Amino acid sequence: MAYRVLIAQFMHETNTFSKLKTTLDDYRRRWLIDGEEMVPRFKGTRNEVGGYIDSAAKYGWEPVYAAAANATPSGTLTKETWETIRDRILGAAKKAGKLDAVCLSLHGAMVTETEDDAEGALLEALRSIVGPDVPMVATLDLHANATVKMAKNANALVSFRTYPHVDGYDRAVQAAALVQEALTGKKKPRCLLSQPAMLEGADHGRTTQPGVMRDLLARADAYEKEPGINVVSIQVGFTWSDIPYTGPSIAVSHEPAAEARAREIARLMIDEIWRRRDEMSADYRPVADGVAAARARSDKKGPLVLADGTDNPGGGGYNDTTPVLQALLDAGIQNAAIGTIYDPGTVRQAMKAGVGAEIDVELGGHTDQSMGKPVKAKALVKMLSDGVFRNDGPMNAGVLSDMGPTAVLRIGGIDVVTISNRIQTTDLQVFLSQGIDPRAKDVLVVKSVQHFRAAYAPIAREIVLVDSGGICSPDISRLRFKKLRRPIWPLDGVNDPYAGARS
Ligand SMILES: [Zn+2]
Repeated sequence: MAYRVLIAQFMHETNTFSKLKTTLDDYRRRWLIDGEEMVPRFKGTRNEVGGYIDSAAKYGWEPVYAAAANATPSGTLTKETWETIRDRILGAAKKAGKLDAVCLSLHGAMVTETEDDAEGALLEALRSIVGPDVPMVATLDLHANATVKMAKNANALVSFRTYPHVDGYDRAVQAAALVQEALTGKKKPRCLLSQPAMLEGADHGRTTQPGVMRDLLARADAYEKEPGINVVSIQVGFTWSDIPYTGPSIAVSHEPAAEARAREIARLMIDEIWRRRDEMSADYRPVADGVAAARARSDKKGPLVLADGTDNPGGGGYNDTTPVLQALLDAGIQNAAIGTIYDPGTVRQAMKAGVGAEIDVELGGHTDQSMGKPVKAKALVKMLSDGVFRNDGPMNAGVLSDMGPTAVLRIGGIDVVTISNRIQTTDLQVFLSQGIDPRAKDVLVVKSVQHFRAAYAPIAREIVLVDSGGICSPDISRLRFKKLRRPIWPLDGVNDPYAGARS
């Protein structure tokens, strides 16, 4: 008899400081897929579901597909959204009858109107359905605010080891391999988690250059070769979340006999995160520095890439702030392109006017005008489309993305990809699918803080990360935490990583 394995995805990175609640429509805009429909959508893609699909075939499992749900990061999930998707997954688990294992693709930083630890609640509910002995694993984003409840209810938490995240597929394959070993009786994995009194750490997980995160991952790789140690995962946390569990953590999946060693490994890893807590590589610059770089002549090939990191929709940014666009217009910068500005009203206006028309726009800046007012300008409608493209990678290669109805507007010397669904600029297709060759531009603006590097660093002559005053500010003194555990570094005078720590 083939092993029956439930496969489900429920992802969200919740920025609780966003004023925008996350709804079922937000999921529909990214994806909200039921049961078997997951297979044609993700088979052959490089995301976690693609990894589970291939693993199920490899091990001859009988997969039970529950649901796949993902939405662009934004504010707290409404109660309805959380319960609807949760109940699809729980319903599939109940309906399946006997299940031999569960493979999940989660984020680990999802917050709902009723749950500060939504993934913990989901894992606990699934555990109560399948019973204590069924292996259950979850992949997590490395920006998870992971919890003891998640670890207690899972047999392994397998977090991404790359930022930009290009290893979702590989982590699912790793998690599935452990499940197979558990199913065949070779392993009996248990999971523990330890969290220090830290709000941030490990350079937010950046792996694009040597530094603390790469060193931690090298140690994790080495520990995983020890007998009895299955998976050592580093979650660096997602800062913009006012819950008790925000911050870095270490999860270790171990065999029962190796529990003491697993605890020791978690402690050693946390000691290193603590010791190197001041190592931060992100260099946010004023918008004016970005404009100066755009003005400067260069003999190097390729575009200057301005990363509008504080309006990154991948962290819950509104994707419609205007300071960078306005500054480039004021400076008269030519041969530039912006991917993207979220403004469905202006897209509708452009669609009504048609390609070739000139329209008066008030572009962007609609969500929170304290972050920049709408840009009033004449715009030429260059192209209109449905905004759907297939990612080339390296991130999410093969996965369909949907920017919603999309208009390319030429304002001054700038092509603005104006969209109706918020989406982080991670793929060159954000421009290519809109008739814009990113390599031929002198300046590109991307709404992303780090993920864009996977596709854009290879073509960029220079990258400048700017702080345009968006919601994803690196200045944590601007965030008003109420539920966060205290004391915590760096907000309070904490002298050791275990002050008030959870483990
Ligand atoms: Zn992440």
